[in-house]
Formats: sequence, structure tokens, C-alpha cells
Amino acid sequence: MKKKLKKTAKKKSKPVNHDLALREQLVSLLKGGEAHVHFMDAIEGFPEAKRGAFVEGFRHTGWQLLEHARIAQWDILEFSRDAKHVSPGFPESYWPKTPGPQDEAAWAKSVQEFQHDLQEMIKLVKNQKTDLCSAIPHGQGQTILRDFQLTGCDLYTTCEPCPMCLGAIYWARPTRIFYAATATDAAGAGFDDAFIYDELKIAPAGRRIPMTQLLRDDSLAVFLAWKQEENKTPY
Ligand SMILES: [Zn+2]
Repeated sequence: MKKKLKKTAKKKSKPVNHDLALREQLVSLLKGGEAHVHFMDAIEGFPEAKRGAFVEGFRHTGWQLLEHARIAQWDILEFSRDAKHVSPGFPESYWPKTPGPQDEAAWAKSVQEFQHDLQEMIKLVKNQKTDLCSAIPHGQGQTILRDFQLTGCDLYTTCEPCPMCLGAIYWARPTRIFYAATATDAAGAGFDDAFIYDELKIAPAGRRIPMTQLLRDDSLAVFLAWKQEENKTPY
């Protein structure tokens, strides 16, 4: 018992390597899973006969979405690591011209290239020589860690986004959101999205978790400093 306690104490005092922790978190986000359907889970078993089929209400087929993901990821990867990279014309060159793949080989090639580039991106993030936070020298403020704008992108989701995701979506500013189930459907399954949406309509002090305002003037000084800062990335 004593030994065990000692071991735990030792573990606790070990300093956290923040750089390594951040890289590990990024790699797990790139690999997917957790709250999201993994890319390969969505691709595997995709019925061959439906690869080029349009579903009512969707603007793109499975093949077009696969190719779009491959091209967009390739563009981000090459932009991140090559100053001479020239992005294709947006949006026309980010989408295949035909609804379906030419043949089985074209589909397989697209999947293989997507996976290859994903592994390259993971390698780039894992490499401790890669500076995650400084602006990419040949970019316009983007960093490897984040390019927060999703201008021109469409977002597809199985459910109306929860308020947390909706906030992130609004900051990233995609063009459109397509969703299947509603927040009320999610509430029916035990995810209390509808409750949070209702809370948003109530004044902060009256919410189930009451919010109290403090030290506004002190906080405004921080915003004033931000407004006056010349070397900033505008949101
Ligand atoms: Zn969410």
C-alpha cells in the first residue's frame, strides 16, 4: 500500500509536457472518432451502386464528397509544408466534374490518397521541429494549429448542432449547415440540447445556472487594448 502511494505521488509531480500533449491531441483529432464518425467508417462499405447517386436535399454525391475531402486535405497539407504550393481555383477545382467515379479503381485511388495525405499531416504535426503556433511565413495569418475560417464550406451533420458546436461553427463561418435530426430529437434521446437552447433565450441572471456580472470596467480595458493592438489577426 505504501509503495503504491509513493508511486502515485511521484507520478503527480512529473511536469506535463504541454507541447507533446498538444501534438497528441491534434493527432487524435486528425485520426477522428470520439464524437465524430471516423472517415474510414463512413467510406468502408459505401455501396458501390450509390457512389454517384444524389440523395434528395443534398447537393453532392458520395463520390463528390470523397474527392472534395481528398483535394481539400491535399491543399491544406501542401500549403502547410510548401511555400511554392499553388492552390487550385476555388470552388470549381475542389469538386470532381462527374457525379460518380469513372471506375472502381478511381474510387480506390481517391481513398488511398486521402489516407496517405492524412498520414503525412499526422507526421507533420508529430514532428517536434514543426512550429504549430507561428504564422506560416507564406500564408496570411494561418498557423499549422489552426486556420479558423471555413469560408465557402458546407457542413453536414447527423443532428442540429448543440450550442457548443454551433458556437464553434459560427466562429469558423462556413457558408451553410445541413442537418438531419433536430435538437428536440436529441433531447428525446437524452442529449439535452433543447434545454440549452431554451436557456439562451432567458436573461443571464434568470438561467438554471445563474450568471452574475462583475468588474465590467476592468474587462473593458482588456478589449480596449485589443482594439488598439495593431499586429493582430482580425476575427
Ligand atoms: Zn456539440
